[in-house]
Amino acid sequence: MRLLIVGPPGVGKGTQAKGIAEHYGVPAISTGDMFRAMKSADTPLARQVQQIMNSGALVPDEITDAIVADRLSQPDARGGWLLDGYPRNLGQVDALDQALAGEGASIDAVVSLTADEDVLVARLLQRAEIEGRADDNAETIANRMRVYREATDPLLSVYRDRGLLVEVDGVGEIAEVAGRITAALDAKLA
Ligand code: AMP
Repeated sequence: MRLLIVGPPGVGKGTQAKGIAEHYGVPAISTGDMFRAMKSADTPLARQVQQIMNSGALVPDEITDAIVADRLSQPDARGGWLLDGYPRNLGQVDALDQALAGEGASIDAVVSLTADEDVLVARLLQRAEIEGRADDNAETIANRMRVYREATDPLLSVYRDRGLLVEVDGVGEIAEVAGRITAALDAKLA
């Protein structure tokens, strides 16, 4: 099973990704988590990534595509995966298509989690207080929303045209949204 989960910042992608991945027995692979893990490294690349993340911009495709291709080639990802936060622009869609074509593999479904931007901004500001994530301040949040609208939103029509898109309302309790996702996916994949 090869799945993508796409959604605006704060919609709960990461939380839901872990649950869905467990449900289908595949690893959840989050580019945001991989980049956050670089925080502790004191190298030029880690510093560059850190600075970009703190601004809310996207890490350059050549870095992101290489990190994902490397991760997907690891043994635990051979049988499938759920990608959380990748692809995030049309160039990354192409890069993923090429990586998959090389293996004769294809995406089974793309979950699009939806919510109003106002609800999400409020959620992210609250998370900033609780978790203190460096990219959860008002300015960075506004930038991440803009990047999502401009760079990531166009992905949805690409996957809709391929008949892969499963749209799910992301507003509600975690378990409630998780139930909606698995029901929608099971119906799609049946
Ligand atoms: P996330 O946790 O998915 O919201 O990602 C946090 C940050 O990591 C983003 O705001 C970007 O700076 C960076 N990032 C995560 N995934 C990608 C990606 N696919 N392409 C470029 N940058 C990314």
